[in-house]
Amino acid sequence: MNKNSSDIMALAPNTPNKRETVCIFGTGDFGRALGHKLIQSGYPVVYGSRSTQISNLIPKDAEVLGHAEAAQKAAIIIIAIQRQHYNFLTPLAEVLRGKVLVDISNNLKLNQYPESNAEYLAQLLPGSKVVKSFNTVSAWALQSGTLDASRQVFVCGDDVEAKQMVMNIVRALGLTPLDKGSLLAAQEIENYPLQLFPMWKFPIFLSLGLAAFFFLYCVALDIVYTYIYENNNFSFFIAITIPNRVCPVVALILLALVYLPGIFAAIIQLYRGTKYRRFPDWLDKWMLCRKQLGLIALAFASLHVVFTLVTPLRAFASWRTSKRIISQALNNKTEPLDHTNAWLSDSYLALGILGYFLFVLLGITSLPSVSNNVNWREFRFVQSKLGYLALIFCTAHTLVYGGKWFLSPSAYKWYLPNIYILSLIVPCAVLVVKFVLIFPCVDKPLTRIRQGWERNPKYSE
Ligand code: NAP
Repeated sequence: MNKNSSDIMALAPNTPNKRETVCIFGTGDFGRALGHKLIQSGYPVVYGSRSTQISNLIPKDAEVLGHAEAAQKAAIIIIAIQRQHYNFLTPLAEVLRGKVLVDISNNLKLNQYPESNAEYLAQLLPGSKVVKSFNTVSAWALQSGTLDASRQVFVCGDDVEAKQMVMNIVRALGLTPLDKGSLLAAQEIENYPLQLFPMWKFPIFLSLGLAAFFFLYCVALDIVYTYIYENNNFSFFIAITIPNRVCPVVALILLALVYLPGIFAAIIQLYRGTKYRRFPDWLDKWMLCRKQLGLIALAFASLHVVFTLVTPLRAFASWRTSKRIISQALNNKTEPLDHTNAWLSDSYLALGILGYFLFVLLGITSLPSVSNNVNWREFRFVQSKLGYLALIFCTAHTLVYGGKWFLSPSAYKWYLPNIYILSLIVPCAVLVVKFVLIFPCVDKPLTRIRQGWERNPKYSE
């Protein structure tokens, strides 16, 4: 038996209610990190390793033995070894019979093997009880104690008692076990750490696509057109002016796209006269990523706020102001205050501020730490009622900004509408249909359908 001199010590190594010994196969990064944590929580740890050499990386108080010898000392054995080396376990089948084997392994690719690593381990050692767990926790997080973001540990296995034993260890480490059912769930759990922002892919691609499209649209109308027909070089618009047009447009469209699937769902339910038929796949997926769409919209709206706030600092803005003052002085006349314009500009700013405030409120309530502290009705009130109010304010903000100018022929360079006009199509459509849906003659049957009523019931009483 070898002991070593790492600083980590058990918090209560000699307590009378000593916990059961845990065996870890493999003294690699994960095995060591988990061993540290287990010892801190009062578990005696014994390592099964190919080498019983002393290493100062291994926690103090842990034993390092050969695999067979170490396995005999514990009922639970954590296999902290890559799947491709699992073959070495076959000769140990007799020693491991009846023991709980915890498979913590991950793969390099999604669905890399036909069966999950845990199922493969169970096939190699049919006499052992295999439980899948800990694979979503990183060695670094375990060792540094930064587990705040990943406290949840998935657990699955066919033997209920074995699963309970593993869940007790998970709890003792200050983590939260989440029972995912039988070992069949192992493939899904193994794929989990390999997924790259699955819920964010569609919203990110969509927002980047919209941003790129509107950016090029503005470059064509504000820079190329002005250069060709007015001989003005406004290429510097690329830095602030155009981004400050694209950001609010993308934010407004994305915000409307958060509410559009709800509208589609209502129309489909009204048409079918039941809520008991599945929505099309595309609609299901769209509904699931509404939070991400909303948060990206908030990011674009925030950029718009920053771009707007820096506008007075721009050389172009001060040049335009001084040009106007000088022209008034040269012509020896002052422009009287245009009250209509003053009203429009103040209303436009006020609507923007209110819309942005509600937007931020929506973003804050979508954070898990906040949404966990409000009940379903409160959450629906903020996300649905205040969300629609935010959409109304932001749409009105754009409409008031455009005003009569949207109707002027100069707003249609190359017969193309201004991007602000384009940005209003989806939000206005959403608001108009929503307005129709809240009419009692439409809302009543919809509410009944959502409460379970069916126009043509499949199972009559
Ligand atoms: P690692 O540092 O490469 O350690 C693996 C250990 O396996 C080695 O230290 C070695 O221990 C043992 N081993 C290597 N080749 C072997 C062989 N041919 N036969 C028997 N044992 C052998 O890997 P790791 O990062 O600790 O990962 C271990 C497992 O945990 C992997 O399945 C990984 O997917 C999973 N995991 C890792 C993390 C992480 O953050 N690192 C997170 C979640 C899950 P001995 O020298 O003591 O025999």
